[in-house]
Amino acid sequence: MTSAPAPVSDTSARLAPPVGLLAELTHRCPLQCPYCSNPLELERAKDELPTDVWQRVFQDAADLGVLQLHLSGGEPAVRTDLEALVAHGAGAGLYTNLITSGVTLNESRLHALRDAGLAHVQISLQDVDAANADRLAHYEGAHAKKLRLAEAVRKTGLALTLNAPIHRHNVMRTADFIDLAVAAGARRLEIAHVQYYGWALANRAALMPTRAQMDESIAIVEEARVRLKGILTIDLVVPDYYAIRPKPCMGGWGRGLITITPSGKAMPCHAAATIPGLLFDNVRDRPLAEIWTSSAAFAQFRGTDWMLEPCRSCDLRERDWGGCRCQALAFTGDARNADPACAKSGWHAAFTAAAAAEASAEPPPFRFRRMAAP
Ligand code: SF4
Ligand code: SF4
Repeated sequence: MTSAPAPVSDTSARLAPPVGLLAELTHRCPLQCPYCSNPLELERAKDELPTDVWQRVFQDAADLGVLQLHLSGGEPAVRTDLEALVAHGAGAGLYTNLITSGVTLNESRLHALRDAGLAHVQISLQDVDAANADRLAHYEGAHAKKLRLAEAVRKTGLALTLNAPIHRHNVMRTADFIDLAVAAGARRLEIAHVQYYGWALANRAALMPTRAQMDESIAIVEEARVRLKGILTIDLVVPDYYAIRPKPCMGGWGRGLITITPSGKAMPCHAAATIPGLLFDNVRDRPLAEIWTSSAAFAQFRGTDWMLEPCRSCDLRERDWGGCRCQALAFTGDARNADPACAKSGWHAAFTAAAAAEASAEPPPFRFRRMAAP
């Protein structure tokens, strides 16, 4: 059991509630995507929170003011209690979204989830080319199963989003992803250039596109957004490595989202465990509202007091909150530094050059996502 650290600061008087709760129900997944953002050390089934603890957390979240519940993983549908969890989340008044790889759900289970109160389904696609999609997932027949599930979601009347993680092995088919989303009746498509955390960071050299490929994919999305207005909403996530300003990672540390890992660790973002020295409270031990207002890990990088230069005196510090702490640590060695995606960072040139060098070299073999041997 994790013991609760003493509160570092209690900002409850001025702290708005989080908008979303990301519940990573399990790290188990039948697929082995090399771009997976899950940590290299995946949590095991025996350590997963039981049904009643997740249900209590969902009620706590609703009481705290959370609006959206994102059920994720791993593959959340490997949990046999998924229907009970959806029913509890929806019953607590949360807008309930299932983020799925789409290979384990069948039509009858989908109906049961809808009847339990599920509002939205998000299916990730590896590629539009079936053979390449199955190669990336390391699972034969995955793509065909995903398309069947997308069709079933559309028939149930549930809202459907398709998610397309983009990298050098599929970036040339950005336009095809858009065509597929329209044909599948999706309301929303996320063209999300891979963010390099967890397994994706370990596979960065195998995945990094060139700047020219990225520019072309952005131009395709921008044209399609105009052409498909009112038919399909396309969200675009650009790769940090070719940016000049960072994204406000998670909308700012401890500002809008709580992530709960399969074993119950409450984190400001799903990669926060890569930062050494942070103490994560566990929802088994401490109420969610108390974690949100007083947890040491959430307080560590909340606001701007922790910032070093150039962020400390930058006019944009309350817009992007200095970018991503995990990326700052991974590339500069200090999580308090500006995200190296920022052109004001002293590491920016090296950050961009690393990407360009990897993108122009022959890609190394994938390191597929796998649970380590016990
Ligand atoms: S990215 Fe792939 S391996 Fe990772 S959880 Fe999603 S479907 Fe599974
Ligand atoms: S210096 Fe810091 S706050 Fe300013 S734009 Fe760059 S990352 Fe954002």
